[in-house]
Amino acid sequence: MTDLVPLVDLNAAYDTRRGKLDAAVRRVMESGWYILGQEVEAFEREFAAFLGATGCVGAASGTDALELALRACDLPAGSGVIAPSHTAVATAVAIERAGLVPVLVDVQADAYTLDPKSVEETLQSGIGSEVRAIVPVHLYGQPADLPALLNLARRYGLRIVEDCAQAHGATLAGRPCGTWGDLAAFSFYPTKNLGAMGDGGAVVTSDAALAARVRSLRQYGWRDRYVSAEPGMNSRLDELQAAVLRVRLAHLADDNEARRGLAAAYAEALAGTRVECPTERAKGRHVYHLYVIQADWRDSLRSHLQRRGIGTGIHYPAAIHQQPAYRGRVRSGPGGLARTERLCSRILSLPMYPQMPPESVAKVAEAIRDWEKTGPARR
Ligand SMILES: *Cc1c(COP(=O)(O)O)cnc(C)c1O
Repeated sequence: MTDLVPLVDLNAAYDTRRGKLDAAVRRVMESGWYILGQEVEAFEREFAAFLGATGCVGAASGTDALELALRACDLPAGSGVIAPSHTAVATAVAIERAGLVPVLVDVQADAYTLDPKSVEETLQSGIGSEVRAIVPVHLYGQPADLPALLNLARRYGLRIVEDCAQAHGATLAGRPCGTWGDLAAFSFYPTKNLGAMGDGGAVVTSDAALAARVRSLRQYGWRDRYVSAEPGMNSRLDELQAAVLRVRLAHLADDNEARRGLAAAYAEALAGTRVECPTERAKGRHVYHLYVIQADWRDSLRSHLQRRGIGTGIHYPAAIHQQPAYRGRVRSGPGGLARTERLCSRILSLPMYPQMPPESVAKVAEAIRDWEKTGPARR
């Protein structure tokens, strides 16, 4: 059964631009050139320009982009990399695949992003001397506290690699996420604010030497064709995905505006209920990849909404340090991860996608009010 109000609707995303997308895909199929050609070059140029950066290098996924960005930093093998535990598992996967060690640090409970105070405590603790980089994750589309994190990076001599997988077009003090750190990694997974019709990712940097290094690493470490200067990867964005992304990039600003409008409508419709709506950082422009509320009796609320035909998600039900693959072996800062753990049991992602009709917000809010009236604790 399809939901009355789905969490996301990728068919709606296709339908609104069907003609342009069909033409773009056909253009690539008829070109006979499928890997690293004109479409990828044009997309890299257009996406860098959108962000106000000078360099963009397409990759096969967001996870690969983050691995490539970290590898380009050339840190000693086994160096520590500070990252939040409250993130997609991909963040930790990329750090380990780059030969580095995640050091997980708590988030700010209201913003859902890396807490600079906890980062500083970690840098001053025993593990601090092993840390060489910070990966701020702009989770759900909310910019992390970049000025504070950049200040720490300067003082401690660390690299900053932004995980922008959920933050295409987000800004802080007018400056786009992805242009604050040394490098940034973007994902174009289909549900992301800028989504392909398959996997895709990109590294963005305005450091020409780092961009060149990433460009070489994504293709076997080639210096010239068939001549590898160092061991690299095979991680290329393909022409079909680049062509799709070019169509969608032209509408990204409008799509983000639509998400922000829906977020404002949610905040208004949910005022007076006991659920906590997401906050927006001062001077930040949140792009609401996900609209994540917090609620007591979260699982009861989720089942209630499901019965009403409203799709929800939990991003993510387990933090990195609670995942079977990392539990008991991954390192964390001295302050612990109490805020992260509390969030895991309280967060709920409500339906959010640019084509969502405003009436759907009212339906979701009404269902939440009904749930509160009938007494959630008794379910
Ligand atoms: C989606 C995502 C990634 C990974 O991107 P893929 O394209 O799926 O590999 C990394 N970090 C975060 C925070 C994400 O949401």
